[in-house]
Amino acid sequence: MVRAAGAEAARLDPDARAAALAALVSTEFQVLVVGGGVVGAGVALDAVTRGLSVGLVEARDFAAGTSSRSSKLIHGGLRYLEQLNVGLVREALAERSLLLGVIAPHLIRPAPFLFPLTHHVWERAYVGTGVTAYDALGFSLGHTRGLPVHRQLSRRSALRLAPALKRSAITGAVAYWDAQVDDARYVLTLARTAAGYGAQLASRVQVRGLLREGERVTGVRAVDLETGRELEIRAQQVVNATGVWTDEIQAMVGGRGMINLRVSKGVHLVVPKDRIHSTTGIIFRTPGSVLFIIPWERYWIIGTTDTDWTGSKAEPAASQADIHYLLGQANRVLKTPLTSEDVTSVYAGLRPLLAGESETSSRLSREHVVAHPVPGLVLVAGGKYTTYRLMARDAVDAVVHALDWRAPLAGADGFQALWNARARLALSSGLHVARIEHLLRRYGSLAPELLALVAADAGLGRPVTGADDYLRAEIVYAASHEGARHLDDVLARRTHIAIETPDRGLSALDEIAGLMARPLGWDADQAAREAGHYRAGVAAGLASQEAATDMEAGALRDAVPDIVPVLATGNGDGTAGDGNGTAGASAGGGGAASGRLGFLPGGRGG
Ligand SMILES: Cc1cc2nc3c(=O)[nH]c(=O)nc-3n(C[C@H](O)[C@H](O)[C@H](O)COP(=O)(O)OP(=O)(O)OC[C@H]3O[C@@H](n4cnc5c(N)ncnc54)[C@H](O)[C@@H]3O)c2cc1C
Repeated sequence: MVRAAGAEAARLDPDARAAALAALVSTEFQVLVVGGGVVGAGVALDAVTRGLSVGLVEARDFAAGTSSRSSKLIHGGLRYLEQLNVGLVREALAERSLLLGVIAPHLIRPAPFLFPLTHHVWERAYVGTGVTAYDALGFSLGHTRGLPVHRQLSRRSALRLAPALKRSAITGAVAYWDAQVDDARYVLTLARTAAGYGAQLASRVQVRGLLREGERVTGVRAVDLETGRELEIRAQQVVNATGVWTDEIQAMVGGRGMINLRVSKGVHLVVPKDRIHSTTGIIFRTPGSVLFIIPWERYWIIGTTDTDWTGSKAEPAASQADIHYLLGQANRVLKTPLTSEDVTSVYAGLRPLLAGESETSSRLSREHVVAHPVPGLVLVAGGKYTTYRLMARDAVDAVVHALDWRAPLAGADGFQALWNARARLALSSGLHVARIEHLLRRYGSLAPELLALVAADAGLGRPVTGADDYLRAEIVYAASHEGARHLDDVLARRTHIAIETPDRGLSALDEIAGLMARPLGWDADQAAREAGHYRAGVAAGLASQEAATDMEAGALRDAVPDIVPVLATGNGDGTAGDGNGTAGASAGGGGAASGRLGFLPGGRGG
């Protein structure tokens, strides 16, 4: 199977970590990301695929923070729709579509949910309208990978899907679909993908301080927690993606900044599948928020709570009160009550919520914020798992803006320095400075690759006989580095000999064919064939210029097809062979009239 370039997952083994650490201390990165949760790993991937050099350090394991302790839902958030926050829902549903359909169809899967109704007509209309809007928003965004639309269910149909529900607790239900993710594995896959594109990532490296030059942040002071080694990592921009630890990083710049976060604990219970008889997940209202009963492999995940937390951020603890609360809420709708005996395990996570004025946390915006408190430091926080890509995009936009970064083409980097050093290059290579300037203008900072060819074979430093604007090394390089496969490629496009010499390069042809032969593995026969074809093309082009009409001129040129004829498509795009839609390609030249030497002027006026 053909894979997109760069989408390879890198190995994250001890050697890779050692190499990343070596790179982290020896290179100035354009971007250093602090934090290896979904946001940090997302920032690393976004930045590295925009062509930036990227490092990332994570104090614990990838996803050890909030990103492995979520409800594992990729969702628009029905709740936000109720708050009439349509923009937020639409944005999240667009992400859900992309993640499900394109970005990670292997890690994100559809999940069915039932929303039990407890009142009569008005609630069905109310919830129905909300879920219809939810579906409509989702479907208006295109690919939903076959997520079915919602259905209104009678009490009886609802109980067929979820026999575990108390008959007395419902009057009917709405069935709808969302998506779920293995949150920890997703982050790990993001990290490996980013590393595959060249990001340098190391876990168990904790940032302890910031490097400063005056006000500007120029990197971080960190510790390799595995060895205790102190590291200084330099970067043009440091991106803080430490979630609920953001305050600690903010404190390193004197608390300026900025992002006002509230830390809210969310607890989940894990219960074996056979304790709740249902073929679908269930979501229902609680006095302050909602409760999810989420299908998860051989288990159900029940959550969540929403209370302030001031204890350890690394290991937030679930209390008996949390467990009782969750069991109590679940038992409001379950026919067979759950007890603490049914609980296989409990996990807790901390939400990095953007603090509003005096709202309760479940009403606080899950939207994110990007701040640039001092030069060299970008903070990104808030948001939710589902929208991590948007957070990453906005953070990297801030970085790119600060760096004034546009991905340069090959040869741009270091060009100016070489140009300034052209006299010295002339001396060291033995070439005239005019030749060096010619090379620098054509190859930029890749010019030393051509000088290396000359250093290995002095003959390549001579001009091409009959086309002396060009060095012989350029002909070799066109075939060895620039994808040229035939004489026309070199004479018409890698160089412009075909239009810069009155004889279209014919007097240089044998020498050029000889130079291309080695990198392309041509034997003498092949070189002669290539040269013969080029000559025939030139002759046809010149003959066509004597023709009186376009038709005549075209016919003369068509008599010599391209050396590798393009197949006829018959759609009138100029590649059709005989005009009847029946042409096939024939290397012999009769059938496909499409290809021709691209440089030959078409008409007298051209
Ligand atoms: C209970 C709960 C349920 C949720 N459910 C959902 C859901 O179903 N769907 C959804 O979309 N969202 C959900 N969320 C929200 C979502 O999980 C979070 O928004 C997201 O995981 C936050 O990711 P992050 O990368 O910002 O933070 P984190 O995952 O916490 O990553 C921050 C990382 O920074 C590291 N770090 C901290 N300090 C340092 C330092 N000094 N040096 C180096 N590294 C450091 C930490 O170790 C950590 O790994 C839920 C959140 C909670 C708490």
